[in-house]
Amino acid sequence: MQTRDATANEAYQGFTNHECPFYPCHTGVKRAFNCLFCYCPLIAYECPGPYRVYTDAHGLRRKDCSECRLPHEDYRASWSFIQKWLERPMTWGGMELDARERQAARGS
Ligand code: SF4
Repeated sequence: MQTRDATANEAYQGFTNHECPFYPCHTGVKRAFNCLFCYCPLIAYECPGPYRVYTDAHGLRRKDCSECRLPHEDYRASWSFIQKWLERPMTWGGMELDARERQAARGS
């Protein structure tokens, strides 16, 4: 088996499951839709969103990631985004993104 650093093949960075009954689960993705991060690895960590916060039936604050395309937009871009934010993961504290952060996230 080759190591990641020894191959030019980037197929591990993503794939699109056109047969999934939920595809496309997020609207607005303009490039290749990456299904690799279907369940976002950043759900329990701080991230740039955009997300909204709701309280579930058990009283836990949860992220609603319906508007986020970051784990899905383009194989290489989404792979790089997830790797960068997992380098130094910080547990999400249940806080809302403020309006400025939300605006910046939409522009990235
Ligand atoms: S807002 Fe986006 S990056 Fe953050 S946890 Fe949700 S899907 Fe992942």
